[in-house]
Amino acid sequence: MIEYEYDVVVIGAGHAGTEAAAAAARLGAKTALLTTNLDTVGQMSCNPAIGGVAKGQIVREVDALGGLMGRAIDATGIQFRLLNRRKGPAMHSPRAQADKKAYQQFIKHEIELQPDLDLRQETVEDLLTETTPDGEKLVGVQVRGDAVYRAPTVVLTTGTFLSAVMHTGDAKTAGGRAGEGTTTGISGALQRLGFAIDRFKTGTPARLNRRTIDYRSLEEQPGDDQPQPFSFLNDTIDIQQVPCHIAMTNPAVHDLIRANLHRAPMYSGQINSRGPRYCPSIEDKVVRFADKDSHQLFLEPEGHHTEEIYVNGISTSLPRDVQDAMFRQIEGLQNAQIMRYGYAVEYDYCPPTQLWPHLESKTVPGLFLAGQINGTTGYEEAAGQGLIAGLNAARIVAGKSTWVPTRDQAYIGVLVDDLVTSGTDEPYRMFTSRAEFRLLLRQDNADRRLTADADQLGLIEATRRDAFQQKLKDIAKAMELLSASKVSTAKGDVKGDVYLRRPEVDWEVMCSIVPELGAIGAQAAQQVVFDIKYEGYVSRQRDEVARQQRMLKKKIPQTFDYATITAMRGEAREKLSSIRPVTLDQAQRISGITPADIALLLAYLEAPS
Ligand code: FAD
Repeated sequence: MIEYEYDVVVIGAGHAGTEAAAAAARLGAKTALLTTNLDTVGQMSCNPAIGGVAKGQIVREVDALGGLMGRAIDATGIQFRLLNRRKGPAMHSPRAQADKKAYQQFIKHEIELQPDLDLRQETVEDLLTETTPDGEKLVGVQVRGDAVYRAPTVVLTTGTFLSAVMHTGDAKTAGGRAGEGTTTGISGALQRLGFAIDRFKTGTPARLNRRTIDYRSLEEQPGDDQPQPFSFLNDTIDIQQVPCHIAMTNPAVHDLIRANLHRAPMYSGQINSRGPRYCPSIEDKVVRFADKDSHQLFLEPEGHHTEEIYVNGISTSLPRDVQDAMFRQIEGLQNAQIMRYGYAVEYDYCPPTQLWPHLESKTVPGLFLAGQINGTTGYEEAAGQGLIAGLNAARIVAGKSTWVPTRDQAYIGVLVDDLVTSGTDEPYRMFTSRAEFRLLLRQDNADRRLTADADQLGLIEATRRDAFQQKLKDIAKAMELLSASKVSTAKGDVKGDVYLRRPEVDWEVMCSIVPELGAIGAQAAQQVVFDIKYEGYVSRQRDEVARQQRMLKKKIPQTFDYATITAMRGEAREKLSSIRPVTLDQAQRISGITPADIALLLAYLEAPS
């Protein structure tokens, strides 16, 4: 038996695992990243795209904390779009198509280059613990082939691979992703350690050969003229963008699906677990939105060096013959050749209320869980959790306190708080609506929210620190120039910052009036414009944050009768009655108590008696 010694062992090199390992190593922890196959490090299991509404914000936060994802997509993106451009800046969400293989290789190479990090091809079969007077304590992992990795902290990020089964029609195969196997030992180890385990499912659509698609009848969807980078380290993206295309389903396709529903594992009873409600399969869409006679399908290229096209919007686990027949009925795809069939996958996850906010197990100290194993879905949600788990594992090894961003600081803060406080009964994906302070959590200001903390934690390098400091100086300089300048208007002279508040006045106009503003960097200029134009909304939200913080200190009388809050969920009433929290802050940290429950409780506490 060979033994290796590390500070942090990360299991699984997907989106959570790579960020976890890189963060731990950046903090100086001796880290091992163990993964079943080195050729799938950072692999995108499903759509070849990063970002999107609320997810794009998470990528910007991961980048602001020194993570990998933003730089990886900037280097390997093939089409960039800023979604919701016409809405206010809080809704702006970057999204980019990736060259899937190039993305994966970029991540792998970054991991290979990272000091203090060893990437090893290993399949972990068991979690090793020792019994101490305080209970089970994690001490390492057992890998296939007679070797043990000893470490005081282990981050488990096995994605969709735990006891996974793939379904296409009635064909069932063991595996967490097409062409790959499953992991059974770890589920057993988690159960042995007392973890509750549940099952979710997700699905993926077919991939088509580009040569066999007739694009003449399909609508083209180009990228933005001026692609915006994800990473705060980059100012521009210089690539030749490729277009996507839009096809449509039609009543004939829907009839075909309805006629074959009994063959879909979701409807035949072969799959019982819940899938992502907001990313439904085509059979789900046809049933749930029966009045719609057409759905959009986005044809997304998987890269520069492949003809594979991902068909976004038609995820399915229907049998092969039905998948073939569906495409025969869709304009532009009548002759399309399927290269990979769609499928659904069922897998084990651990309800995340079993974790502390820094993603360490409450019952097995040293064991951290991050990514899809916590019941989330999406590369970005996984990356955000990975970073939090990895950095905290390293901090615990170094004897330091844990760090987690707050709900008013980051979507990542909202994500971990939602997961550990309320859990999730369906695969959790991020939405802007989950963040009560979304005006503060914009994609454009992620660095101003997080990079100073990242610097203190030791997560970032000198280049990022210098660029950030320069940006802050530029913002301060621009504010000074604007407030010192005067603009003549019909109603008399006004200061430059007041003039910039006008909807028709933009940065270019101000530069023509105050030429010194031309020296301000583009990123800083954008911050100045948003700070000034949205000052009213943002300061109201900041006041709300302050009010909430004051409110959380509010005492709850020990005689308070929760039964009087009839509008509250019975489960919440019962929990509060049995735990009897002393303050609202304590109440809101009780697992299963939601912000809505707290709002009700506050209303009752403040009601005149
Ligand atoms: P993964 O990216 O799955 O990485 C897990 C890693 O762990 C892999 O590298 C694996 O090899 C490794 N591993 C597993 N077991 C072991 C072991 N015993 N020892 C060592 N290494 C191990 N997300 C969406 O947002 N939208 C979708 O539509 C969507 N559809 C999906 C469809 C399918 C079929 C699949 C499989 C996933 C889909 N996802 C979708 C989810 C998305 O892929 C995940 O959210 C994301 O990849 C999770 O990242 P992760 O790091 O948690 O896990």
